[in-house]
Amino acid sequence: MNNILALMAGVSFLLLGHADEADAKSPSWYRGNTHTHTINSDGNAAPDRVVRWYREHGYHFVFVTDHEYVTDVGPLNELIGARERFVVFAGQEITQWGDDPKRAAAHVNGLFSTTVIWPVGIRKCLGSGCGAHAPASTSLAETFRTNIAEIVSQGAIPQINHPNYRWAVRPEDLADTPDFTLLEIWNGQGRINNLGGEDEAGVTRPSAEGFWDILLSQGKIIWGVGADDSHDFGDAPDPDGAAPGQAWIMVRAPELTASAIRRSIERGDFYASTGVELEDIRADDASLALRIAESRPGAARFKTRFVGTGGRVLAEAAGTSPVYRFHGGENYVRAIVTDSNGNQAWTQPVFRDSRRERVSKRAD
Ligand SMILES: [Zn+2]
Ligand SMILES: [Zn+2]
Repeated sequence: MNNILALMAGVSFLLLGHADEADAKSPSWYRGNTHTHTINSDGNAAPDRVVRWYREHGYHFVFVTDHEYVTDVGPLNELIGARERFVVFAGQEITQWGDDPKRAAAHVNGLFSTTVIWPVGIRKCLGSGCGAHAPASTSLAETFRTNIAEIVSQGAIPQINHPNYRWAVRPEDLADTPDFTLLEIWNGQGRINNLGGEDEAGVTRPSAEGFWDILLSQGKIIWGVGADDSHDFGDAPDPDGAAPGQAWIMVRAPELTASAIRRSIERGDFYASTGVELEDIRADDASLALRIAESRPGAARFKTRFVGTGGRVLAEAAGTSPVYRFHGGENYVRAIVTDSNGNQAWTQPVFRDSRRERVSKRAD
């Protein structure tokens, strides 16, 4: 295995080629989904079938995140897990609703959570899905603060889900989001309003990616994820519904273990994708450079946008080796690659301000 020099988020670290007795070609990019439902809440397949789907479709890990239920992943790993091939991680979706009848949604995942966290307010289980409704006196912002604090206190990683589901979340609801929280910038469900929009009354919501730039422009350290939010593992899932395989993350890690994957997620050494594959992401004091994988040379074309504060496009580049050279004054720079078929990849932001030190501290 080649040594990979990775300089990410202003942190330099050397991932030494690791000795893997089983397979010298084991990848250093691991594909995973951080948002999955089973019949332990409102999914339509048993946990073993769900994780088997991911194993059989090129994934290396999956978090099972049922509503108000932490699935025991031990038996699943016994059954389907395999060293350096596939692992199942525990989690939960904390299903926070606002006061009825608005049913505003403020859902947050806890990745690596261990026991069920109940959302704020009156608990309800409708059919197979549970959750809680916050009273009218409790703002969504307050519920995010409370639920994320609970997740962090368990040692789990918080992930804010689908901010435009039911058009519930406004950017100000996320103003107190702590650093190192994940945000779903692409949720695989077909009716989840990833791209934002304006209603007839002129009320607008940014895209989920726009939420990310707002938080980043406020000085926060937030990592963007793509995730399935899969519920439907039937033979003919509704393409606009909640089928698996829509959006994922690629994590760069020295090995496929809970501690290695967690560490890479925490320090932002991963990217989100709906189909574009990156072979390398490098950042140093001078530039941010990508190498885009091609299934067949020239089969697809690629456009990369480099985005900074306020979501402003700083530069665009064609081809498979786009580079952005810092000119000074940027607070953060991130890259979005779009191919000629509409597939995308989103790198994490490279910080050019004091956040660099905070990220490198986290990486220690
Ligand atoms: Zn949800
Ligand atoms: Zn969900």
